[in-house]
Amino acid sequence: MRTPKDVEREFAIAAGTVVDWVSRYFQEADRYPVLAQVHPGSLRSALPPTPPEEPEPFEAVWQDFQDRVLPAVTHWNHPAFFAYFAITGSAPGVLGELLSAALNVNGMLWRTCPAATELEQVVLDWLRQMLGLPEQFGVIMDTASVATLCAVAAAREALGLEVRTRGMAGRPDLPRLRLYTSEQAHSSVEKAAVVLGLGQEGVRKIPTDGDYRMRPDALEQAVVEDLRAGWRPVCVVATVGTTSTTSVDPVDEIASVCERYGIWLHVDAAYGGAAAILPEMRWVLRGCERADSFLVNPHKWLFTPIDCTAFYTRRPEVLRAAFSLVPEYLQTPVADAVNFMDYGIQLGRRFRALKLWMVIRMFGVRGLQEALRGHLQLARQFAEWVDASQEFERVAPVPFSTVCFRHRAPGRDLEEANRFNERLLEAVNATGRAYLSHTVLRGRYVLRLSVGNLRTELQHVRRCWNLLQEHARALCTDPT
Ligand code: PLP
Repeated sequence: MRTPKDVEREFAIAAGTVVDWVSRYFQEADRYPVLAQVHPGSLRSALPPTPPEEPEPFEAVWQDFQDRVLPAVTHWNHPAFFAYFAITGSAPGVLGELLSAALNVNGMLWRTCPAATELEQVVLDWLRQMLGLPEQFGVIMDTASVATLCAVAAAREALGLEVRTRGMAGRPDLPRLRLYTSEQAHSSVEKAAVVLGLGQEGVRKIPTDGDYRMRPDALEQAVVEDLRAGWRPVCVVATVGTTSTTSVDPVDEIASVCERYGIWLHVDAAYGGAAAILPEMRWVLRGCERADSFLVNPHKWLFTPIDCTAFYTRRPEVLRAAFSLVPEYLQTPVADAVNFMDYGIQLGRRFRALKLWMVIRMFGVRGLQEALRGHLQLARQFAEWVDASQEFERVAPVPFSTVCFRHRAPGRDLEEANRFNERLLEAVNATGRAYLSHTVLRGRYVLRLSVGNLRTELQHVRRCWNLLQEHARALCTDPT
């Protein structure tokens, strides 16, 4: 019988097969349907419900990956993946992941892998410079959701209410705490309030202007009202590149409100922040240098495989005060070294810096800039087609590479027009030749096309546009 040691010895052969496949896959991802054409439960029913007792050869596992797992994959690497925020797992990123998995270090303390800590410091400082942000502390977290949670926890810690030690329940001395964010902010902001005991009622959603940007006047009014009513403001979360329309909140003006009332400002630039590596797009981060904390997701629009969120703060001592809790077995005699486990929720930490380091080095800042410029250009082109069309209309500005649009569905009331657009989206996605997602803006069902894949070319965007037009025409003549 083969032992785990035998299996380990066969690594090179198995790895050769996998790596060959990956390099072909990157070139030919468009051979697959973008959206998995399977029903719920199809993969589960195709696999044995119990684990194998004896070792299985790699070939058998590989065959099942090809025949059973792959058909149930939605291909985010497909150049016609236009849903949510489109992303790419790039070659340098995959190499970084491979090395990180091979080394399998746990970078909780500096001494448990000095390279993991110091490469993280170096690469986050590079990224900070690329974005034009001032010098500050950076740490890699898994996702934007977790980074925002940490930011709000730090903001709560900064109030000096002793929540860390005494908790929040059963304390008549505590004011009710309020978090402010725009009605267009990502759900992760509200989730942070849920987890941290502020509750959904502790989140005040600030109205947006005609272009879906937070209104600083409405923010200030809300803060003043709340202070009068006995609430304690904890944090304002502004967004650069909101999830639905990619609107950019006026961070500079929001920062002024925060400074006037002493409120922590956190900026969620998960998607849009990456654009600031382009000199002509620097404006999107205007005012972010005044934020207490800031995040951007290299796993969204900087070709770094999921997951990798870059989190920055000008007040690391507060973040540390919120999270550092060192059991005896992790006490370390090394002074002057950063132990990243002190700056967030997780103890164990993957060597995520490797993949970001490899992406930045192997693409270079210029290569990354070119890729992003290409995406901006493709989105602009699509927006032009929509604008020139009689059947479709654009429903929001396009500051980045995401276009919000809808079919006009003439002669139908709002509800019917919404249903029409929903059916149009389902029809296009069912072809497996493109994948788009949707949102609802002021009661209107809206389609979104987001360009973020390294291999997306004009031909893919044009094909998607043709598909939309064809299916819209078919639906117009369909009486059902
Ligand atoms: N913030 C914004 C603006 C987003 O669009 C998203 C996801 O799309 C998130 C946060 C959550 O990102 P993550 O999956 O990294 O938690």
